[in-house]
Amino acid sequence: MKCLNCGNSINNSLSIKEIFLFKEIVPNYICNLCRKQLAPLIGRNNCPRCLKPDSDGVCTDCYMWEQKYGIINCHQALFEYNQFIHSYFKLYKRYGDVLLARLFFQDIKNWSLRNNFDVVTYIPASESHLQARGFDPVYELYADIFDLKPLLVKVDADKPQAQKNRIERLNTPQTFSALPEFSKIQKEQRILILDDIYTTGRTLMHAHDIFLKTGFENISTFSLSR
Ligand SMILES: [Zn+2]
Ligand SMILES: [Zn+2]
Repeated sequence: MKCLNCGNSINNSLSIKEIFLFKEIVPNYICNLCRKQLAPLIGRNNCPRCLKPDSDGVCTDCYMWEQKYGIINCHQALFEYNQFIHSYFKLYKRYGDVLLARLFFQDIKNWSLRNNFDVVTYIPASESHLQARGFDPVYELYADIFDLKPLLVKVDADKPQAQKNRIERLNTPQTFSALPEFSKIQKEQRILILDDIYTTGRTLMHAHDIFLKTGFENISTFSLSR
């Protein structure tokens, strides 16, 4: 198999343990050279609520979300946002290489096998982005791994997030509304909301807030990068 990012060969031979334990074989689409450029978040003195690395306790953003929305953030992510992740999302989202959706399949799949939820939904692209790109990048990133339920719809914003500074991003008003299917979900179910990148947390906090205000209590969020 070849690395989806650079085309190098990937050695996918099974370990003795995998053969004897009949473990589910999770395919890998990223080579070791590319993997070495990633900065995993695990074990880095993270914020316990959002996994911000090297934060030494609850970070100031998480305190702000608690004060502003009453949200006790429960977020998990796999990799720190760095140059490799930046280039990856540029190729995947801006240049629309939809095949790259599976580059992190193994990492996300393994995370999904260790965590249980009743309902998994995702941050949808706005209609204008969907039209321009031809695919929904967050949906494609997770569709092979989770049984995704579309529950939210994104209203087109005044200007794209990427063009906003930090203060503008944090102060953007609610940009989601709930689809009719939303009302069919039982309140005691464990909810997971997926996004691709967590920057200030604003996008996921707005989605989280819709669930919270409707009476859900068990709400978690996840992003590939933080
Ligand atoms: Zn590679
Ligand atoms: Zn935090």
